[in-house]
Amino acid sequence: MELKVYIDGNLHPKSEAKVSVFDHGLLYGDGVFEGIRCYNGLVFRLNEHLDRLYESAHTIMLAIPLSKKEMTQAVLQTLKANQLKNAYIRLVVTRGVGDLGLDPRKCKKATVIIITDNIVLYPETLYRNGLEIITVPTVRNLPEALNPQIKSLNYLNNIMAKIEATSAGYQEAIMLNFQGYVTECTGDNIFLIKEGVLITPPAYLGALKGITRDAIMELALKQGVRCEEKVITRHEVFNAEEVFLTGTAAEIIPVVKVDGRKIGQGKPGRLTLQLMKAFHKLTKEDGVRYSL
Ligand code: PMP
Repeated sequence: MELKVYIDGNLHPKSEAKVSVFDHGLLYGDGVFEGIRCYNGLVFRLNEHLDRLYESAHTIMLAIPLSKKEMTQAVLQTLKANQLKNAYIRLVVTRGVGDLGLDPRKCKKATVIIITDNIVLYPETLYRNGLEIITVPTVRNLPEALNPQIKSLNYLNNIMAKIEATSAGYQEAIMLNFQGYVTECTGDNIFLIKEGVLITPPAYLGALKGITRDAIMELALKQGVRCEEKVITRHEVFNAEEVFLTGTAAEIIPVVKVDGRKIGQGKPGRLTLQLMKAFHKLTKEDGVRYSL
């Protein structure tokens, strides 16, 4: 069966799922999006993802033509139409069709797209052995210019960093802000553990407030692990006991080497493994349930 894609209330076969070349999502990257997972008929933290989507849209003054309740129904309808219990969900809201000028007022109605597909994660061996990452030269967007807390369709900042990482032979990379402080990776948040305390950079430095990031901090607190949002440099990363990345697609992935420096014992750490286990349990419990 060909995959079906939701566009503005209708389901189209994948090969016919198309939007206008005058859509400002295409012309200018003008829009917002979410990446969401569902696990065995449970859309993980869907409400939190929708809250972030609507906040991103509010900041860029984009009116989403569906209520959160209607959006929830649209997501579930698309999953059901594709008979998917486990999937990656890409929810996209663009400014819609306009003319060739920038002016968003010319775009009369936002375009809503929901794609549900299977997910390609990092290979299993990387979860067992850990990832090696580097720091790249491209600086994370200044929050005063384009706030990384807006999950916008304009991802060139991250793509530039990703190109630098992959051309050096790495799959993920640390991005610093203009002052040289660690912000996040190209598509994941970063955590470190030092003296048993879980530390992650505050979003205001220039990072997305990850849904997985929030979940990990909650799980850590529940396990009695102290949790801090703290300004960190690469020095703190190099000398951490453990480092890991979090994201909807990656979930939690251990990092064992950064810029050639071994992290801790050079293998996934105890707390990281503990949090991975707790996170997998959470993905079976926390979300919006549906049946096919
Ligand atoms: N930072 C960036 C730049 C991202 O694109 C993502 C993935 N969407 C994340 C962090 C992780 O966020 P989440 O846990 O909500 O997927």
